[in-house]
Amino acid sequence: MDIKELTIQSALEGFQKKKFTVVDVVRACLANIQKYNDDYHALLTVVDEKTLLCQAEKIDKTDYSLPLSGIPIVLKDLFTTTGLRTTAGSKVLEHYTPVYDATVVARLKAAGAIIIGKANQDAWGHGSSGENTDYIPAKNPYDPSRVPGGSSSGSAVAVALGMCLASTGTDTGSSVRGPAAFCNLVGLKPTYGRVSRYGIIAMASSFDTIGHITKTVYDNALMCEITAGKDAYDATTGDQQVPTYSQGLDGTLRGKTIGLPKEYFELKGMDPRVRDATQAAIKKMEDLGARVIEVSLPHTTVAMACYYILVPSEVSSNLARFDGVRFGCGRETFGLEAKRRVMIGTYALSSGYYDAYYQTAAKIRTLIKKDFDDVFTKVDAIVAPSSPTLPFTIGERSSDPVAMYLSDIFMCPVNISGVPAVNVPCGFVGDLPVGLQIIGPQFGEQNIYQIASVYEKATEWYKRTTPV
Ligand code: GLN
Repeated sequence: MDIKELTIQSALEGFQKKKFTVVDVVRACLANIQKYNDDYHALLTVVDEKTLLCQAEKIDKTDYSLPLSGIPIVLKDLFTTTGLRTTAGSKVLEHYTPVYDATVVARLKAAGAIIIGKANQDAWGHGSSGENTDYIPAKNPYDPSRVPGGSSSGSAVAVALGMCLASTGTDTGSSVRGPAAFCNLVGLKPTYGRVSRYGIIAMASSFDTIGHITKTVYDNALMCEITAGKDAYDATTGDQQVPTYSQGLDGTLRGKTIGLPKEYFELKGMDPRVRDATQAAIKKMEDLGARVIEVSLPHTTVAMACYYILVPSEVSSNLARFDGVRFGCGRETFGLEAKRRVMIGTYALSSGYYDAYYQTAAKIRTLIKKDFDDVFTKVDAIVAPSSPTLPFTIGERSSDPVAMYLSDIFMCPVNISGVPAVNVPCGFVGDLPVGLQIIGPQFGEQNIYQIASVYEKATEWYKRTTPV
């Protein structure tokens, strides 16, 4: 068993058929943590070995009947966990240990998962590269001179390096899809309100979504069906029934219409090698039976401006609770990016500027949502690259916030409008992975998972594991 190749699906099968035990898998994950974490900085906290092995032994005595029996999982460090340090990647919470589990954590545990550790991230979720962590930034396992994507940086690195079989992340503007794209993994940003945000340290509450990072579409669909659904603790969760996403992933793309947004493909900053890989993927989808048409999302050009008014506004409000009085360190402990966002948000919300900034951006948000609604009357899914570039080198964009913000140009509009999207690996340029984004209408997770899965099975890019 090679843990870097092992999926949740094959691990569950291996346990059932007694090919290996949960103890074997947990030990293999711990060995990889030991081997790689000092160089790649994926995890900020690791649960102690004795506790983990004790849990594993207990599950090995059962018939592995739970949907995630014995599956080692890493959580982004802004999911609250009872008795386990939760920093949100920030020094403000360096010594904070929560007294309750986030709903998603409770659901994963109830499904039999083993929480192996907490992943590094851009502090509070602010970033696209992992470099805004208040700790040591994680590195890309396909090329350690490059970033792994962010803000769920450690979550992706931990899966790629076999420190766990799957991880959780949050996606407010890109943060599950981006690191999944840069690390050759599958990452879903669900519909806003599909998965409970209870117990997640909030970034921008009307944008935050909870997704998972896995090796395959099947594994992702399984994690999503376990964690999604109504939660009495989060009034924004919808009571739509949760489909069994992991079923019905086979088939062809016959009968599906896929839209290519012309504004995305006209973007000047798109790396031609990313464009080529994306076009090859689209061609493959046509071969698999899809009909491909051009569509238009006319407000794409103002999406980032809209995002970077609304999100910091919500950030400035959410971060106000970290006053160092009841828990956490004082406000002087905030890093530079958090301070920048608090200042921009406070400014945009202040009297005299509110109409010009916040309110205008809120109106643009409605127009962007309408762009997507209009397109989804004509197509089943929209396909585009997740990122316009390959994983960039560490330091390349950290001194230029605007360049950093633009790396999310194809992903942020999805959060502005609330629809779901999944990243699926779609090729390599040299050693560097390229990710394809498949966007669907509200609560259309089942459909985009199916499209992603058919494509994945026809290409199998996920099988190319890290060179280390
Ligand atoms: N990169 C985006 C930002 O910095 C998105 C972050 C996220 O999704 N958490 O805001």
